[in-house]
Amino acid sequence: MRYSGWQVLAQGLLGNGGWRPAWRDPAPKPAYDIIIIGGGGHGLATAFYLAKEHGLTNIAVLEKGYLGGGNVGRNTTIVRANYGLPGNSEFYSHSLKLWEGLEGELNYNVMHSQRGLINLFHSDGQRDAYTRRANAIINQGDDAQILDREGVRKLLPYLDYEQTRFPIFGGLYHPRGGTARHDAVAWGFARGADQRGVDLIQNCEVTGIDIENGRVTGVQTSRGAIRAKKVGIVVAGRSSQVAAMAGMRLPIESHILQAFVTEGLKPCIDHVVTYGMGHFYISQSDKGGLVFGGDLDFYASYAARGNLPMAEHVIEAGMTLMPMIGKARMLRSWGGIMDMSPDGSPVIDRTHIDGLYLNCGWCYGGFKAVPGSGHCFAHLIATDRPHEAAARYRLDRFATGRGLMDEEGTGSQHNLH
Ligand SMILES: Cc1cc2nc3c(=O)[nH]c(=O)nc-3n(C[C@H](O)[C@H](O)[C@H](O)COP(=O)(O)OP(=O)(O)OC[C@H]3O[C@@H](n4cnc5c(N)ncnc54)[C@H](O)[C@@H]3O)c2cc1C
Repeated sequence: MRYSGWQVLAQGLLGNGGWRPAWRDPAPKPAYDIIIIGGGGHGLATAFYLAKEHGLTNIAVLEKGYLGGGNVGRNTTIVRANYGLPGNSEFYSHSLKLWEGLEGELNYNVMHSQRGLINLFHSDGQRDAYTRRANAIINQGDDAQILDREGVRKLLPYLDYEQTRFPIFGGLYHPRGGTARHDAVAWGFARGADQRGVDLIQNCEVTGIDIENGRVTGVQTSRGAIRAKKVGIVVAGRSSQVAAMAGMRLPIESHILQAFVTEGLKPCIDHVVTYGMGHFYISQSDKGGLVFGGDLDFYASYAARGNLPMAEHVIEAGMTLMPMIGKARMLRSWGGIMDMSPDGSPVIDRTHIDGLYLNCGWCYGGFKAVPGSGHCFAHLIATDRPHEAAARYRLDRFATGRGLMDEEGTGSQHNLH
């Protein structure tokens, strides 16, 4: 069913009885050409691009819960391409370009809003680092400007410019950065994949991966065995557990990241803003809630909920930067399970098992990657060659030490990213 203004009008006049489910609910078939494990943003985007770009449609996406019930539907929705290191630069640039055409491609309103993102800096050293990053972004063909303090004040008049502990020196402005409606992204890709014949199978947990003579032959699931010629693992925070089913030990740790939202307010924050002296970032959703987050909870866990010390830390950082938010009432918080890689950068690669492919290590930045990751992973699965934008996302870099992309310079400890 195509969505359009005309449909809204017609359905409104007809009592809204004509809307159909956005995707089918098929039972699993005994065999597929390709199985994608994980119905999050990356898994659904992979299935969509496999069908659309490579004409492969005998595909199942197996999701243990419901589509979009994982991190894709519980993040702070920041979309940007302001990375500085080779490897990440070209990948996120590729992903942002896909975002910019996504609504037309899916015929789905994912509420992608390029409202601009500003990373604040608070010292001369930080200004230098951001200037280097701005140059790298511009060299990649993306947009970046260094704003001085007055330039920031014009855009963000509500910040506390008088505080002496962490004075605001300026900001790295990325006008094409912004936000999107997170679960609409999952729904849009789901509908697009389903329309092209992909089976989206919910409540179907993968419990084992079948391998014969070094080649993947299918999976075991809570709804029976399913054969497949190729299998892609795209399960974010559960990557280590699912890869272990194929006997693999990944360099990934699972950590919790929380997000917070306030009651709906009139528009007051027009951009995405990140604080440079504490881990705090904020934007305002189209419903009016202030959506913000901070750092990881700093211990490995599979519990999709966070703890109070980090909530306190995030709120303190917010109050330091923009004391006005102290007047807003917080409505809720939630946590998601992050697949933290040692260098903070992801993996899109084949494994040592023929026909088994791996997509993981997105840390807390994988929402903006959804179209790019799906596009590049589909290319890898279909052609057995890495897409040029994701060519550096090799798994063996952690074994060899060559080609690491430590964007944040935090070293190899997962919980410092
Ligand atoms: C609080 C928070 C804030 C964030 N903010 C941002 C942000 O502002 N910008 C940004 O770019 N990124 C952000 N992220 C990160 C981003 O959300 C993730 O990196 C990204 O969504 C992960 O990929 P995914 O969407 O495929 O994951 P998910 O949606 O988690 O999908 C993985 C799916 O795999 C399924 N699965 C797991 N095991 C199995 C199994 N055995 N069988 C079948 N299915 C299985 C899960 O149920 C899940 O649905 C944030 C994350 C969180 C939690």
